[in-house]
Amino acid sequence: MSGAGAAGGEHTGGIVHLVGAGPGDPGLLTVRAVELIAQADVILHDRLIPAEALAYARPDAELVYVGKEGAAAQVPQEDTHAFLLEHARAGRRVVRLKGGDPFVFGRGGEEALLLREAGIPFEVVPGITAGVAAPAYAGIPVTQREVASGVAFVTGHEDPAKPESALDWPALAAFPGTLVFYMGVRALPRIAEQLIAGGRPAQEPVAVVERGTLPGQRVLLATLGDVAARATQEGIRAPAITLVGAVAALRERIAWLEARPLHGRTIAVTRARAQASALAKRLRELGATVVEAPAIRIEPLPAAKPDLSRYDLVAITSPNGAERFLALLRDARELAGNTVAAIGPGTARALRERGVEPDIVPERAVAEGLVEVLRDVPVTRALIARAAEGRDVLPAALRERGAEVDLLLLYETVAEPLDDTTRAAAAAADYLLFTSASSVRFFARAAGDAALSGPRLASIGPATSAALREHGAEADLEADPHTPDGLVDALLRDAKR
Ligand code: SAH
Repeated sequence: MSGAGAAGGEHTGGIVHLVGAGPGDPGLLTVRAVELIAQADVILHDRLIPAEALAYARPDAELVYVGKEGAAAQVPQEDTHAFLLEHARAGRRVVRLKGGDPFVFGRGGEEALLLREAGIPFEVVPGITAGVAAPAYAGIPVTQREVASGVAFVTGHEDPAKPESALDWPALAAFPGTLVFYMGVRALPRIAEQLIAGGRPAQEPVAVVERGTLPGQRVLLATLGDVAARATQEGIRAPAITLVGAVAALRERIAWLEARPLHGRTIAVTRARAQASALAKRLRELGATVVEAPAIRIEPLPAAKPDLSRYDLVAITSPNGAERFLALLRDARELAGNTVAAIGPGTARALRERGVEPDIVPERAVAEGLVEVLRDVPVTRALIARAAEGRDVLPAALRERGAEVDLLLLYETVAEPLDDTTRAAAAAADYLLFTSASSVRFFARAAGDAALSGPRLASIGPATSAALREHGAEADLEADPHTPDGLVDALLRDAKR
Protein backbone atom coordinates (compact mmCIF):
# COMPACT_ATOMS: atom_id res chain seq x y z
CA MET A 1 0.00 0.00 0.00
CA SER A 2 2.99 2.30 -0.59
CA GLY A 3 0.99 4.58 -2.81
CA ALA A 4 -1.86 5.28 -0.39
CA GLY A 5 -2.34 8.99 -0.24
CA ALA A 6 0.45 9.57 -2.74
CA ALA A 7 0.53 12.81 -4.67
CA GLY A 8 -0.16 12.89 -8.40
CA GLY A 9 2.50 11.38 -10.58
CA GLU A 10 2.59 8.07 -8.74
CA HIS A 11 0.34 5.12 -8.99
CA THR A 12 0.07 1.71 -7.44
CA GLY A 13 -1.19 -0.52 -10.23
CA GLY A 14 -4.52 1.20 -10.47
CA ILE A 15 -5.88 1.85 -13.93
CA VAL A 16 -8.94 3.57 -15.34
CA HIS A 17 -10.79 2.36 -18.41
CA LEU A 18 -13.01 4.98 -20.00
CA VAL A 19 -15.57 2.67 -21.55
CA GLY A 20 -18.48 3.32 -23.88
CA ALA A 21 -21.51 1.13 -23.13
CA GLY A 22 -23.36 1.81 -26.38
CA PRO A 23 -26.78 3.36 -26.84
CA GLY A 24 -28.92 1.02 -24.72
CA ASP A 25 -29.46 -2.31 -26.47
CA PRO A 26 -27.25 -4.65 -24.43
CA GLY A 27 -26.32 -6.44 -27.65
CA LEU A 28 -24.49 -3.29 -28.69
CA LEU A 29 -21.96 -3.46 -25.87
CA THR A 30 -18.54 -4.25 -27.29
CA VAL A 31 -16.73 -7.45 -26.43
CA ARG A 32 -13.97 -5.37 -24.85
CA ALA A 33 -16.48 -3.47 -22.70
CA VAL A 34 -17.94 -6.70 -21.34
CA GLU A 35 -14.46 -8.08 -20.66
CA LEU A 36 -13.45 -5.00 -18.68
CA ILE A 37 -16.73 -4.76 -16.76
CA ALA A 38 -16.23 -8.38 -15.71
CA GLN A 39 -12.74 -7.62 -14.36
CA ALA A 40 -13.38 -4.27 -12.70
CA ASP A 41 -12.98 -3.64 -8.97
CA VAL A 42 -15.03 -0.46 -9.23
CA ILE A 43 -17.50 0.72 -11.86
CA LEU A 44 -18.47 4.38 -11.99
CA HIS A 45 -21.49 4.57 -14.25
CA ASP A 46 -24.01 6.97 -15.74
CA ARG A 47 -27.74 6.53 -16.00
CA LEU A 48 -27.87 6.05 -19.77
CA ILE A 49 -26.14 2.69 -19.86
CA PRO A 50 -27.86 -0.61 -20.55
CA ALA A 51 -29.07 -2.00 -17.20
CA GLU A 52 -27.82 -5.41 -18.34
CA ALA A 53 -24.25 -4.10 -18.62
CA LEU A 54 -23.79 -4.17 -14.86
CA ALA A 55 -24.89 -7.80 -14.71
CA TYR A 56 -21.43 -8.70 -16.06
CA ALA A 57 -19.77 -7.12 -13.02
CA ARG A 58 -18.13 -9.29 -10.37
CA PRO A 59 -20.44 -9.85 -7.42
CA ASP A 60 -17.94 -8.09 -5.17
CA ALA A 61 -17.35 -5.15 -7.51
CA GLU A 62 -18.30 -1.74 -6.18
CA LEU A 63 -20.90 -0.03 -8.37
CA VAL A 64 -21.13 3.72 -8.06
CA TYR A 65 -23.73 5.87 -9.81
CA VAL A 66 -22.21 9.16 -10.90
CA GLY A 67 -24.82 10.29 -13.40
CA LYS A 68 -26.01 13.78 -13.93
CA GLU A 69 -29.33 13.25 -15.61
CA GLY A 70 -32.72 12.23 -14.40
CA ALA A 71 -34.51 11.95 -11.11
CA ALA A 72 -31.63 10.41 -9.16
CA ALA A 73 -29.36 12.74 -7.24
CA GLN A 74 -27.03 14.57 -9.56
CA VAL A 75 -23.36 13.93 -9.01
CA PRO A 76 -21.22 16.96 -9.83
CA GLN A 77 -18.36 16.33 -12.27
CA GLU A 78 -15.82 17.31 -9.57
CA ASP A 79 -17.03 14.44 -7.41
CA THR A 80 -16.70 12.03 -10.33
CA HIS A 81 -13.15 13.28 -10.81
CA ALA A 82 -12.40 12.81 -7.12
CA PHE A 83 -13.79 9.24 -7.18
CA LEU A 84 -11.73 8.35 -10.24
CA LEU A 85 -8.52 9.55 -8.63
CA GLU A 86 -9.26 8.02 -5.26
CA HIS A 87 -10.04 4.54 -6.56
CA ALA A 88 -7.22 4.46 -9.10
CA ARG A 89 -4.72 5.64 -6.48
CA ALA A 90 -5.87 2.86 -4.19
CA GLY A 91 -4.63 0.45 -6.87
CA ARG A 92 -8.03 -0.59 -8.19
CA ARG A 93 -9.13 -1.41 -11.70
CA VAL A 94 -11.69 1.25 -12.40
CA VAL A 95 -14.19 1.19 -15.25
CA ARG A 96 -15.73 4.55 -15.99
CA LEU A 97 -18.80 3.40 -17.93
CA LYS A 98 -20.65 5.91 -20.07
CA GLY A 99 -23.59 5.70 -22.42
CA GLY A 100 -22.73 5.59 -26.12
CA ASP A 101 -19.16 6.63 -26.78
CA PRO A 102 -17.09 8.16 -23.98
CA PHE A 103 -15.65 10.87 -26.23
CA VAL A 104 -18.94 11.96 -27.82
CA PHE A 105 -20.64 14.45 -25.48
CA GLY A 106 -19.56 12.20 -22.65
CA ARG A 107 -16.92 14.33 -20.91
CA GLY A 108 -14.52 11.44 -21.45
CA GLY A 109 -11.95 13.89 -22.79
CA GLU A 110 -11.98 15.88 -19.55
CA GLU A 111 -11.54 12.73 -17.51
CA ALA A 112 -8.66 11.56 -19.73
CA LEU A 113 -6.90 14.89 -19.23
CA LEU A 114 -7.40 14.70 -15.48
CA LEU A 115 -5.92 11.20 -15.35
CA ARG A 116 -2.98 12.17 -17.53
CA GLU A 117 -2.21 15.11 -15.23
CA ALA A 118 -2.44 12.84 -12.20
CA GLY A 119 -0.12 10.32 -13.82
CA ILE A 120 -2.71 7.57 -13.66
CA PRO A 121 -2.71 5.11 -16.56
CA PHE A 122 -5.92 4.96 -18.56
CA GLU A 123 -7.32 3.35 -21.68
CA VAL A 124 -10.27 4.30 -23.83
CA VAL A 125 -12.83 1.86 -25.20
CA PRO A 126 -15.02 3.49 -27.85
CA GLY A 127 -18.71 2.73 -27.84
CA ILE A 128 -21.46 2.87 -30.38
CA THR A 129 -22.75 6.40 -30.18
CA ALA A 130 -26.47 7.16 -29.97
CA GLY A 131 -26.24 9.65 -32.83
CA VAL A 132 -25.48 6.82 -35.25
CA ALA A 133 -27.21 3.90 -33.51
CA ALA A 134 -30.63 5.49 -32.85
CA PRO A 135 -31.00 6.55 -36.50
CA ALA A 136 -29.82 3.10 -37.63
CA TYR A 137 -32.52 1.43 -35.53
CA ALA A 138 -35.00 3.85 -37.04
CA GLY A 139 -33.95 2.83 -40.55
CA ILE A 140 -31.97 6.00 -41.26
CA PRO A 141 -28.40 5.92 -42.57
CA VAL A 142 -26.65 9.09 -41.38
CA THR A 143 -24.80 9.35 -44.69
CA GLN A 144 -25.97 8.22 -48.10
CA ARG A 145 -24.31 8.57 -51.47
CA GLU A 146 -25.75 11.53 -53.40
CA VAL A 147 -28.01 12.45 -50.45
CA ALA A 148 -25.69 13.32 -47.58
CA SER A 149 -21.93 13.21 -47.87
CA GLY A 150 -21.24 14.41 -44.37
CA VAL A 151 -22.64 14.28 -40.87
CA ALA A 152 -22.24 16.70 -37.98
CA PHE A 153 -22.74 15.78 -34.32
CA VAL A 154 -24.10 18.78 -32.46
CA THR A 155 -25.12 19.40 -28.87
CA GLY A 156 -28.64 20.76 -28.62
CA HIS A 157 -28.13 21.43 -24.95
CA GLU A 158 -27.68 25.11 -24.55
CA ASP A 159 -28.56 27.29 -21.68
CA PRO A 160 -31.75 29.01 -22.88
CA ALA A 161 -31.11 31.77 -20.35
CA LYS A 162 -27.99 32.74 -22.23
CA PRO A 163 -28.80 35.50 -24.71
CA GLU A 164 -25.88 34.71 -26.99
CA SER A 165 -25.81 31.16 -28.32
CA ALA A 166 -22.64 29.10 -28.37
CA LEU A 167 -23.65 27.39 -31.60
CA ASP A 168 -22.90 29.02 -34.93
CA TRP A 169 -26.37 28.59 -36.40
CA PRO A 170 -25.68 30.10 -39.84
CA ALA A 171 -22.73 27.72 -40.25
CA LEU A 172 -24.82 24.75 -39.12
CA ALA A 173 -27.61 25.68 -41.49
CA ALA A 174 -25.08 25.87 -44.31
CA PHE A 175 -23.49 22.51 -43.44
CA PRO A 176 -23.74 20.27 -46.50
CA GLY A 177 -25.01 17.11 -44.88
CA THR A 178 -26.89 15.54 -42.00
CA LEU A 179 -27.14 17.28 -38.63
CA VAL A 180 -27.47 15.07 -35.58
CA PHE A 181 -28.45 16.78 -32.34
CA TYR A 182 -27.86 15.21 -28.94
CA MET A 183 -29.69 16.44 -25.83
CA GLY A 184 -31.97 18.52 -27.99
CA VAL A 185 -35.54 17.68 -26.99
CA ARG A 186 -36.26 20.86 -25.09
CA ALA A 187 -34.38 22.91 -27.66
CA LEU A 188 -36.37 21.57 -30.62
CA PRO A 189 -38.30 24.81 -31.30
CA ARG A 190 -35.06 26.79 -31.26
CA ILE A 191 -33.19 24.27 -33.43
CA ALA A 192 -35.92 24.31 -36.08
CA GLU A 193 -36.34 28.06 -35.99
CA GLN A 194 -32.62 28.80 -36.28
CA LEU A 195 -32.05 26.34 -39.11
CA ILE A 196 -34.97 27.73 -41.10
CA ALA A 197 -33.71 31.26 -40.41
CA GLY A 198 -30.32 30.10 -41.73
CA GLY A 199 -31.85 29.00 -45.01
CA ARG A 200 -32.83 25.37 -44.55
CA PRO A 201 -36.23 24.66 -46.15
CA ALA A 202 -39.18 24.23 -43.76
CA GLN A 203 -39.98 21.05 -45.72
CA GLU A 204 -36.65 19.42 -44.83
CA PRO A 205 -37.21 16.00 -43.18
CA VAL A 206 -36.46 15.63 -39.49
CA ALA A 207 -36.52 12.44 -37.41
CA VAL A 208 -36.65 12.37 -33.64
CA VAL A 209 -35.69 9.00 -32.18
CA GLU A 210 -36.69 8.56 -28.55
CA ARG A 211 -35.09 5.74 -26.51
CA GLY A 212 -33.23 4.55 -29.59
CA THR A 213 -32.31 0.83 -29.61
CA LEU A 214 -34.24 0.27 -26.36
CA PRO A 215 -37.60 -1.48 -25.93
CA GLY A 216 -40.28 1.08 -26.65
CA GLN A 217 -38.15 3.07 -29.11
CA ARG A 218 -40.34 5.73 -30.76
CA VAL A 219 -39.64 7.58 -33.96
CA LEU A 220 -41.24 10.81 -35.07
CA LEU A 221 -40.80 11.63 -38.73
CA ALA A 222 -41.60 15.31 -39.37
CA THR A 223 -40.27 18.40 -41.08
CA LEU A 224 -38.33 21.37 -39.78
CA GLY A 225 -41.57 23.34 -40.04
CA ASP A 226 -43.70 21.13 -37.83
CA VAL A 227 -41.29 19.05 -35.74
CA ALA A 228 -41.49 21.19 -32.60
CA ALA A 229 -45.29 21.15 -32.46
CA ARG A 230 -45.52 17.47 -33.29
CA ALA A 231 -42.90 16.46 -30.71
CA THR A 232 -44.89 18.31 -28.04
CA GLN A 233 -48.10 16.72 -29.24
CA GLU A 234 -46.59 13.23 -29.09
CA GLY A 235 -44.92 13.88 -25.76
CA ILE A 236 -41.42 13.06 -26.98
CA ARG A 237 -38.96 13.03 -24.10
CA ALA A 238 -35.26 12.58 -23.46
CA PRO A 239 -33.22 10.63 -24.28
CA ALA A 240 -33.76 11.38 -27.93
CA ILE A 241 -31.68 12.09 -31.01
CA THR A 242 -32.88 14.69 -33.48
CA LEU A 243 -31.67 14.16 -37.01
CA VAL A 244 -32.10 16.84 -39.68
CA GLY A 245 -31.53 16.04 -43.33
CA ALA A 246 -32.82 14.38 -46.45
CA VAL A 247 -31.65 10.96 -45.20
CA ALA A 248 -34.45 11.04 -42.59
CA ALA A 249 -36.97 10.34 -45.34
CA LEU A 250 -35.21 7.04 -46.14
CA ARG A 251 -36.85 5.65 -43.00
CA GLU A 252 -40.01 5.15 -44.99
CA ARG A 253 -38.20 2.62 -47.14
CA ILE A 254 -35.54 1.22 -44.81
CA ALA A 255 -37.37 0.88 -41.45
CA TRP A 256 -36.57 -2.68 -40.38
CA LEU A 257 -37.19 -2.86 -36.66
CA GLU A 258 -40.94 -2.58 -37.16
CA ALA A 259 -40.80 -5.22 -39.88
CA ARG A 260 -39.77 -8.00 -37.50
CA PRO A 261 -42.51 -10.59 -37.07
CA LEU A 262 -43.21 -10.05 -33.36
CA HIS A 263 -42.66 -6.28 -33.32
CA GLY A 264 -45.09 -4.47 -31.08
CA ARG A 265 -46.10 -7.67 -29.23
CA THR A 266 -45.54 -7.99 -25.53
CA ILE A 267 -44.97 -11.56 -24.46
CA ALA A 268 -44.82 -12.72 -20.85
CA VAL A 269 -42.68 -15.79 -20.19
CA THR A 270 -43.62 -17.67 -17.02
CA ARG A 271 -40.79 -20.18 -17.13
CA ALA A 272 -38.22 -20.50 -14.35
CA ARG A 273 -35.68 -17.73 -14.71
CA ALA A 274 -32.81 -20.14 -15.33
CA GLN A 275 -34.56 -21.52 -18.42
CA ALA A 276 -36.36 -18.43 -19.61
CA SER A 277 -33.35 -16.63 -20.99
CA ALA A 278 -32.86 -18.60 -24.20
CA LEU A 279 -36.56 -18.38 -25.03
CA ALA A 280 -36.68 -14.69 -24.11
CA LYS A 281 -33.66 -13.99 -26.28
CA ARG A 282 -35.22 -15.72 -29.27
CA LEU A 283 -38.47 -13.76 -28.83
CA ARG A 284 -36.60 -10.47 -28.51
CA GLU A 285 -34.70 -11.21 -31.69
CA LEU A 286 -38.04 -11.63 -33.41
CA GLY A 287 -39.00 -8.14 -32.22
CA ALA A 288 -41.11 -8.91 -29.17
CA THR A 289 -40.99 -7.03 -25.90
CA VAL A 290 -40.51 -9.74 -23.30
CA VAL A 291 -41.80 -9.63 -19.73
CA GLU A 292 -40.00 -12.19 -17.63
CA ALA A 293 -42.53 -13.41 -15.08
CA PRO A 294 -40.97 -16.55 -13.61
CA ALA A 295 -43.70 -18.03 -11.44
CA ILE A 296 -41.62 -21.10 -10.70
CA ARG A 297 -38.15 -21.94 -9.55
CA ILE A 298 -36.27 -25.22 -9.69
CA GLU A 299 -35.17 -26.41 -6.26
CA PRO A 300 -32.69 -29.31 -6.31
CA LEU A 301 -33.50 -32.26 -4.04
CA PRO A 302 -30.77 -34.23 -2.30
CA ALA A 303 -30.24 -37.39 -4.37
CA ALA A 304 -27.80 -40.26 -3.94
CA LYS A 305 -25.98 -41.73 -6.91
CA PRO A 306 -28.00 -44.70 -8.20
CA ASP A 307 -26.47 -48.12 -8.92
CA LEU A 308 -26.87 -48.04 -12.69
CA SER A 309 -25.93 -51.71 -13.16
CA ARG A 310 -29.37 -52.62 -11.79
CA TYR A 311 -31.28 -50.96 -14.66
CA ASP A 312 -31.61 -51.72 -18.34
CA LEU A 313 -33.52 -48.50 -19.05
CA VAL A 314 -32.76 -45.00 -17.77
CA ALA A 315 -35.44 -42.46 -18.69
CA ILE A 316 -34.86 -38.74 -18.26
CA THR A 317 -37.86 -36.49 -18.55
CA SER A 318 -36.59 -32.90 -18.61
CA PRO A 319 -33.49 -30.83 -19.37
CA ASN A 320 -33.22 -30.02 -15.64
CA GLY A 321 -33.37 -33.72 -14.90
CA ALA A 322 -30.58 -34.36 -17.43
CA GLU A 323 -28.39 -31.75 -15.85
CA ARG A 324 -28.95 -32.90 -12.27
CA PHE A 325 -28.68 -36.59 -13.15
CA LEU A 326 -25.37 -36.28 -15.00
CA ALA A 327 -24.03 -34.25 -12.09
CA LEU A 328 -24.45 -37.35 -9.89
CA LEU A 329 -22.20 -39.44 -12.16
CA ARG A 330 -18.46 -39.35 -12.50
CA ASP A 331 -18.79 -39.00 -16.25
CA ALA A 332 -20.92 -40.12 -19.17
CA ARG A 333 -19.20 -43.52 -19.44
CA GLU A 334 -21.17 -44.74 -16.45
CA LEU A 335 -24.23 -44.90 -18.71
CA ALA A 336 -22.50 -47.12 -21.26
CA GLY A 337 -24.50 -50.21 -20.24
CA ASN A 338 -27.96 -48.61 -20.16
CA THR A 339 -30.53 -47.76 -22.74
CA VAL A 340 -31.06 -44.03 -22.31
CA ALA A 341 -34.41 -42.47 -23.19
CA ALA A 342 -35.05 -38.73 -23.32
CA ILE A 343 -38.57 -37.35 -23.30
CA GLY A 344 -37.99 -34.80 -26.04
CA PRO A 345 -35.48 -32.80 -28.07
CA GLY A 346 -34.68 -30.32 -25.26
CA THR A 347 -33.79 -33.15 -22.88
CA ALA A 348 -31.85 -34.90 -25.67
CA ARG A 349 -29.89 -31.70 -26.24
CA ALA A 350 -29.11 -31.35 -22.53
CA LEU A 351 -27.83 -34.95 -22.51
CA ARG A 352 -25.70 -34.44 -25.63
CA GLU A 353 -24.16 -31.31 -24.12
CA ARG A 354 -22.93 -33.61 -21.36
CA GLY A 355 -21.61 -36.31 -23.65
CA VAL A 356 -24.56 -38.71 -23.69
CA GLU A 357 -26.29 -39.60 -26.93
CA PRO A 358 -29.81 -40.78 -26.01
CA ASP A 359 -30.89 -44.07 -27.59
CA ILE A 360 -34.56 -43.16 -27.63
CA VAL A 361 -36.24 -39.80 -28.26
CA PRO A 362 -39.97 -39.94 -29.09
CA GLU A 363 -41.35 -37.74 -31.82
CA ARG A 364 -44.11 -36.48 -29.53
CA ALA A 365 -42.35 -34.79 -26.61
CA VAL A 366 -44.75 -35.92 -23.88
CA ALA A 367 -44.81 -38.89 -21.49
CA GLU A 368 -47.40 -40.62 -23.72
CA GLY A 369 -45.05 -40.32 -26.68
CA LEU A 370 -42.28 -41.98 -24.71
CA VAL A 371 -44.60 -44.79 -23.59
CA GLU A 372 -45.47 -45.37 -27.22
CA VAL A 373 -41.91 -45.69 -28.54
CA LEU A 374 -40.91 -47.85 -25.58
CA ARG A 375 -43.57 -50.37 -26.51
CA ASP A 376 -41.14 -52.38 -28.61
CA VAL A 377 -38.19 -51.97 -26.23
CA PRO A 378 -37.75 -54.77 -23.69
CA VAL A 379 -37.61 -53.29 -20.17
CA THR A 380 -37.05 -55.30 -16.99
CA ARG A 381 -36.05 -52.63 -14.57
CA ALA A 382 -36.25 -48.91 -15.24
CA LEU A 383 -34.92 -45.84 -13.51
CA ILE A 384 -36.88 -42.66 -14.14
CA ALA A 385 -34.98 -39.49 -13.28
CA ARG A 386 -37.37 -36.58 -12.98
CA ALA A 387 -39.03 -33.83 -10.95
CA ALA A 388 -40.82 -34.68 -7.69
CA GLU A 389 -44.13 -33.49 -9.10
CA GLY A 390 -43.86 -35.30 -12.43
CA ARG A 391 -46.86 -37.09 -13.91
CA ASP A 392 -47.42 -40.80 -13.31
CA VAL A 393 -47.98 -41.75 -16.96
CA LEU A 394 -44.58 -43.30 -17.70
CA PRO A 395 -44.02 -45.28 -14.45
CA ALA A 396 -47.60 -46.59 -14.53
CA ALA A 397 -47.30 -47.76 -18.15
CA LEU A 398 -43.98 -49.51 -17.49
CA ARG A 399 -45.25 -51.22 -14.35
CA GLU A 400 -48.33 -52.33 -16.22
CA ARG A 401 -46.15 -54.24 -18.63
CA GLY A 402 -44.39 -55.96 -15.74
CA ALA A 403 -41.28 -53.83 -15.42
CA GLU A 404 -39.89 -52.77 -12.09
CA VAL A 405 -39.66 -48.98 -11.84
CA ASP A 406 -37.62 -46.83 -9.48
CA LEU A 407 -38.06 -43.08 -9.37
CA LEU A 408 -35.09 -40.80 -8.80
CA LEU A 409 -36.51 -37.45 -7.73
CA LEU A 410 -33.93 -34.85 -8.57
CA TYR A 411 -35.65 -31.53 -8.04
CA GLU A 412 -38.96 -29.96 -7.31
CA THR A 413 -40.68 -27.00 -8.82
CA VAL A 414 -41.56 -24.36 -6.26
CA ALA A 415 -43.39 -21.05 -6.41
CA GLU A 416 -41.37 -17.94 -7.17
CA PRO A 417 -43.05 -14.79 -5.88
CA LEU A 418 -43.95 -12.20 -8.51
CA ASP A 419 -43.87 -8.53 -7.60
CA ASP A 420 -46.82 -6.25 -8.38
CA THR A 421 -45.18 -4.64 -11.40
CA THR A 422 -44.37 -8.00 -12.98
CA ARG A 423 -47.84 -9.37 -12.28
CA ALA A 424 -49.48 -6.32 -13.82
CA ALA A 425 -47.16 -6.39 -16.84
CA ALA A 426 -47.87 -10.10 -17.42
CA ALA A 427 -51.64 -9.64 -17.16
CA ALA A 428 -51.45 -6.75 -19.65
CA ALA A 429 -49.26 -8.63 -22.15
CA ASP A 430 -50.48 -9.68 -25.59
CA TYR A 431 -49.40 -13.26 -24.92
CA LEU A 432 -48.79 -15.38 -21.84
CA LEU A 433 -46.44 -18.28 -22.51
CA PHE A 434 -46.64 -21.50 -20.54
CA THR A 435 -44.03 -24.19 -20.97
CA SER A 436 -45.29 -26.61 -18.31
CA ALA A 437 -48.36 -27.48 -16.28
CA SER A 438 -46.56 -26.35 -13.13
CA SER A 439 -45.89 -22.92 -14.63
CA VAL A 440 -49.66 -22.57 -15.20
CA ARG A 441 -50.53 -23.58 -11.63
CA PHE A 442 -47.94 -21.42 -9.97
CA PHE A 443 -48.64 -18.44 -12.22
CA ALA A 444 -52.37 -18.67 -11.51
CA ARG A 445 -51.62 -18.90 -7.81
CA ALA A 446 -49.32 -15.85 -7.92
CA ALA A 447 -51.34 -13.67 -10.25
CA GLY A 448 -54.90 -15.01 -9.91
CA ASP A 449 -57.05 -16.72 -12.55
CA ALA A 450 -58.19 -13.29 -13.75
CA ALA A 451 -54.69 -12.62 -15.06
CA LEU A 452 -55.34 -15.42 -17.58
CA SER A 453 -58.31 -13.65 -19.10
CA GLY A 454 -56.63 -10.75 -20.94
CA PRO A 455 -53.68 -12.09 -22.92
CA ARG A 456 -53.77 -14.81 -25.56
CA LEU A 457 -52.60 -18.01 -23.92
CA ALA A 458 -49.85 -20.01 -25.55
CA SER A 459 -49.30 -23.56 -24.30
CA ILE A 460 -46.42 -25.91 -25.05
CA GLY A 461 -48.58 -29.03 -25.16
CA PRO A 462 -51.60 -31.00 -23.99
CA ALA A 463 -50.58 -31.35 -20.31
CA THR A 464 -50.08 -27.60 -20.07
CA SER A 465 -53.36 -26.89 -21.88
CA ALA A 466 -55.13 -29.22 -19.44
CA ALA A 467 -53.69 -27.26 -16.51
CA LEU A 468 -55.08 -24.08 -18.09
CA ARG A 469 -58.51 -25.70 -18.28
CA GLU A 470 -58.30 -26.47 -14.54
CA HIS A 471 -58.13 -22.71 -14.10
CA GLY A 472 -61.07 -22.02 -16.33
CA ALA A 473 -58.98 -20.91 -19.29
CA GLU A 474 -58.53 -22.30 -22.77
CA ALA A 475 -55.19 -22.19 -24.62
CA ASP A 476 -55.47 -19.98 -27.70
CA LEU A 477 -52.57 -21.78 -29.27
CA GLU A 478 -50.79 -25.04 -28.54
CA ALA A 479 -47.33 -25.88 -29.79
CA ASP A 480 -46.74 -28.88 -32.01
CA PRO A 481 -44.07 -30.24 -31.61
CA HIS A 482 -44.32 -29.66 -27.87
CA THR A 483 -41.01 -27.87 -27.54
CA PRO A 484 -39.94 -24.25 -27.00
CA ASP A 485 -39.12 -24.01 -30.72
CA GLY A 486 -42.58 -25.37 -31.53
CA LEU A 487 -44.05 -22.75 -29.23
CA VAL A 488 -42.19 -19.94 -31.00
CA ASP A 489 -43.43 -21.23 -34.36
CA ALA A 490 -47.01 -21.32 -33.08
CA LEU A 491 -46.63 -17.73 -31.85
CA LEU A 492 -45.30 -16.58 -35.20
CA ARG A 493 -48.28 -18.14 -36.95
CA ASP A 494 -50.70 -16.62 -34.46
CA ALA A 495 -49.12 -13.16 -34.65
CA LYS A 496 -49.76 -13.09 -38.41
CA ARG A 497 -53.48 -13.38 -37.91
N1 SAH B 1 -21.89 9.66 -25.00
C1 SAH B 1 -23.24 9.47 -25.46
C2 SAH B 1 -24.01 10.76 -25.49
C3 SAH B 1 -24.22 11.38 -24.13
S1 SAH B 1 -25.15 12.85 -24.17
C4 SAH B 1 -23.22 8.83 -26.85
O1 SAH B 1 -22.16 8.74 -27.48
O2 SAH B 1 -24.27 8.36 -27.31
C5 SAH B 1 -26.78 12.25 -23.83
C6 SAH B 1 -27.64 12.34 -25.04
O3 SAH B 1 -27.38 11.25 -25.90
C7 SAH B 1 -29.12 12.27 -24.77
O4 SAH B 1 -29.64 13.51 -24.38
C8 SAH B 1 -29.64 11.87 -26.13
O5 SAH B 1 -29.67 12.95 -27.02
C9 SAH B 1 -28.55 10.93 -26.60
N2 SAH B 1 -28.89 9.54 -26.31
C10 SAH B 1 -28.26 8.69 -25.49
N3 SAH B 1 -28.84 7.46 -25.52
C11 SAH B 1 -29.87 7.56 -26.38
C12 SAH B 1 -30.84 6.65 -26.87
N4 SAH B 1 -30.88 5.39 -26.45
N5 SAH B 1 -31.74 7.09 -27.78
C13 SAH B 1 -31.72 8.36 -28.22
N6 SAH B 1 -30.83 9.25 -27.78
C14 SAH B 1 -29.90 8.87 -26.90
